[in-house]
Amino acid sequence: MKNVSNQVPYAICCGCGACANTCSKGAIRMVENREGFLVPQVDEALCVDCGLCLKACPALQDKRENDHKPDCYASQAPDNIRAISSSGGVFTPLAEAILNRGGFVCGAAFRNDWTVHHIIIDKKEDLDKLRRSKYVQSDTEDCFKRIKALLRDGKWVLFSGTPCQVAGLYTYLGKEYDTLLTVDIFCHGAPSPGVWKRYLKENYKPGTIADVNFRDKKAIGWSCSHVAITLKNGKKEVSDNYTKWFHSSVILRPSCEDCKYSKIPRPADISLGDWWSISKIDTKLNDGKGLSNVLLNSEKGKNIYASLNLSKSQRIALPDWYNNGHLRHGIKLNRERDNFFRDNMPLNTDKRTKESTLNQFDLCYVSIYYGRNYGSILVSYAGYKILQSLGFSVLALNKPKCVWERPIEEVDDVIQLAFAWRHYDHISPMYPDLVSLGKLNEFCNGFVVGSDQIFSPHLHLDTIAYLQYARTDKVKIAFGTSFGHESYLSNADRIYKNKALLQRFDHIALREIPKNIVENIFELNASQIIDPTLILPKEEFHKLANASNLNTGEPYLLTYCLDMNSKKENAIAYIAKQLNLRIVYIRNLQHMDRRYEPSLFHSERDYTPEDFCKLYQNASFVVTDSYHGSCFSIIFRRNFVSIINTERGKIRYEMFNDFGLLHRFYSSPEEVYNTKDWMEDIDFSQAENIIAEKANFAREWLSNSLSSLRKQEPSHIEQTACEDYPKKQGLRKALSKRIAYPVRDFFRSLRKMIIGK
Ligand SMILES: Cc1cc2nc3c(=O)[nH]c(=O)nc-3n(C[C@H](O)[C@H](O)[C@H](O)COP(=O)(O)OP(=O)(O)OC[C@H]3O[C@@H](n4cnc5c(N)ncnc54)[C@H](O)[C@@H]3O)c2cc1C
Repeated sequence: MKNVSNQVPYAICCGCGACANTCSKGAIRMVENREGFLVPQVDEALCVDCGLCLKACPALQDKRENDHKPDCYASQAPDNIRAISSSGGVFTPLAEAILNRGGFVCGAAFRNDWTVHHIIIDKKEDLDKLRRSKYVQSDTEDCFKRIKALLRDGKWVLFSGTPCQVAGLYTYLGKEYDTLLTVDIFCHGAPSPGVWKRYLKENYKPGTIADVNFRDKKAIGWSCSHVAITLKNGKKEVSDNYTKWFHSSVILRPSCEDCKYSKIPRPADISLGDWWSISKIDTKLNDGKGLSNVLLNSEKGKNIYASLNLSKSQRIALPDWYNNGHLRHGIKLNRERDNFFRDNMPLNTDKRTKESTLNQFDLCYVSIYYGRNYGSILVSYAGYKILQSLGFSVLALNKPKCVWERPIEEVDDVIQLAFAWRHYDHISPMYPDLVSLGKLNEFCNGFVVGSDQIFSPHLHLDTIAYLQYARTDKVKIAFGTSFGHESYLSNADRIYKNKALLQRFDHIALREIPKNIVENIFELNASQIIDPTLILPKEEFHKLANASNLNTGEPYLLTYCLDMNSKKENAIAYIAKQLNLRIVYIRNLQHMDRRYEPSLFHSERDYTPEDFCKLYQNASFVVTDSYHGSCFSIIFRRNFVSIINTERGKIRYEMFNDFGLLHRFYSSPEEVYNTKDWMEDIDFSQAENIIAEKANFAREWLSNSLSSLRKQEPSHIEQTACEDYPKKQGLRKALSKRIAYPVRDFFRSLRKMIIGK
């Protein structure tokens, strides 16, 4: 028997429910699969092999095609509607136009349990149920069947949904109806309803939620990076713990990859989205309160749009580069997707850490493992593993909420979080502020500040890097830490404070010794060690590479550039041509640094750190502008060219001179055209000998610096879950203690500086 269950693989099934709606024998039910998505389940005993479900399936039929060049508008509904809508609110006047004709409107609404289902309404009073985006794939239930009955009765119907749902409705209906108006929303992808239910279950007691708003303009402005949840007790919580997995394409349906329905020409009469990036076209159009991007894909769509009463409607030429909602190119799902579903990863990054705090640790490790840069992630990993290899139990400090305020749209740190989840045994909670960071003293005997440029004044990580929150009796060490640059550009107050804090450290080993900073400004007694990625045995990075399931394919030139520009792009293409290699490009994870998109090659996707290692392991040649990109060329023994990125600090490159590799470093991309030296194979023996020697020194230095900790008996502080701390100790006492220690330490250091004791 041929039916959807054996003819439509999960990879292409969009879960629209057209098949279940079409089966007159009731043989098809939509059931939730292990990833939480609805898929058709066929009862073979009831199936009569009629093949109607296959005819109704949009995955097997050609897409309904509208205009290849739709009219595009920047539009706004009146302000009172806009304020309670996701974008410019155009959905509401469209829906009202149909209701005014005595018609019906079908769209996505929350149920009492906050799951999302399509419903059909016929009154304006019910419109608010459909308003606002719910970032969860909606269950269309039997709506297609009911819509068909209404259309056959000659009623007007507006159906709104994702492009695949609209496509499903058309293939289900099998013919056009004059009284059907369809609206498809621009769609980043359909997130798993099962994951949404898990998120609610893990974080909220049943029956406690009064409202869920993914587009709460009052709380988060015109943005879609957070979900605002109002509780029945009046408390409102705004969090990105769910939405970051959505925006990073981790919790999307497999069929969202390269979605055929989202691209122009679109299936619906009208497409609605946010006019993100409008400021690049016309700054005056963005008042920060929401603007709709309206595409009129058919004559019917144009006619009905023309009849609306809108506050703003300005025709705009849709630029070729505009790919919001995947209008032009499809998306690749996140490489973490399968790990996420397989490992049941917590959506809430605090989750795992709560358990960790019941333990006692030798060390708290302060690094930026959550940095948006493969170098930061892997150097943090190296430091963590080195400490563990010396026999210490280590708690990695999670990103405190008080540091690194980032633009609200940027939530793409899933790759780093998932990597840490796989490789770090213990991660601390996300402490909200300096006072609560003091809780670490309760269960850590010492603190190690790791790499990379965590001491840099430009990164503004003072809150965590200078260990202000660590008590005087705790061991404090800097291991491979860097100031990044040769000068410390900051104000006198900050320098004065950080000097006092640095002088509380017991041992300091820096990756570079910028003389002016170390000797003149901070007057430190510091050793120098190599970068921790070179201290960790390279077999550890090969293990990471071997854990990646990426298929690297034909020989390639790997390029990992943090700051791409046209000169670098041309030089990379030139080298690849000379070597007859295709190009694999690893982009910076930091979205803000993706200002320049090369046109001669492109990045397939964001890679996991394991993929990053595998791409290095198998590369035929590497071109990089990254310090760590150069380190990994040496670790994996790859021929490379490094274009020195002076803006990111050049002092760190001095090390490569000792390795006898400075001839592979160019101060500008044009230099590659004047020489063919880079074509010669690199002899890594000198570098490897020096690295082995320096790595031994660094390990010994660390072991000696931590020897006091080894002798120390574990302190018998009551093992208190930090969440309970204020309750158990009394808030005032806890706060005064946490403030008193750093203040006392500060004055002690000051006294030491002034009178020498
Ligand atoms: C999962 C999802 C992904 C999206 N991705 C993008 C994107 O990448 N870029 C972009 O510009 N816009 C995206 N949007 C669309 C955008 O958020 C707005 O829905 C759209 O601009 C309409 O806004 P409005 O102000 O006109 O009306 P609103 O009143 O906000 O209208 C909401 C409309 O969206 C429909 N809707 C809400 N939730 C769902 C759902 N779960 N499934 C199907 N339909 C739903 C309702 O039925 C209603 O028609 C997405 C929406 C969803 C639901």
